[in-house]
Amino acid sequence: MSTIFSQIVAGEIPARIVYEDETTIAFLDANPLAPGHTLVIPKDEYERLNDVPDDVAADLYETVHHMVPVVEDAVDADATTVAFNNGEEAGQEVPHVHCHIVPRFEGDGGGPIHAVAGDRPDLDDDELDDIAADIEASA
Ligand code: AMP
Repeated sequence: MSTIFSQIVAGEIPARIVYEDETTIAFLDANPLAPGHTLVIPKDEYERLNDVPDDVAADLYETVHHMVPVVEDAVDADATTVAFNNGEEAGQEVPHVHCHIVPRFEGDGGGPIHAVAGDRPDLDDDELDDIAADIEASA
């Protein structure tokens, strides 16, 4: 069964579409965290960021890059939080890659992206070195 976002792409359910090109589309979030909260998605359905092919990933970033200042200007925002919930355990509810562009305003009561994680780990230098080595080895 296709995701709710694929149904938006297909025009089967309504959405406030604010930008569209060959491979990507942007529309307002139906339950906005702030005025102008916008989602940018690839038109084709991929569940996680690492499922997105390189060329589509480049297109997706290009649309995010294009839309951030457009959204900020439209709602006179001071800043934006731009983020992906990548996987269910990270809070992803719709299994179709989407980038949240959330306008931010001075004194809006929100927090930084650091606020999304749970308890912070207490890692010593050796552990950090090991983690960095493991990541670098696969990069
Ligand atoms: P996430 O938790 O990252 O998967 O976010 C999914 C987002 O999609 C939420 O912010 C929802 O408000 C939003 N959403 C769900 N259904 C729709 C819809 N039909 N149109 C627009 N936004 C939607």
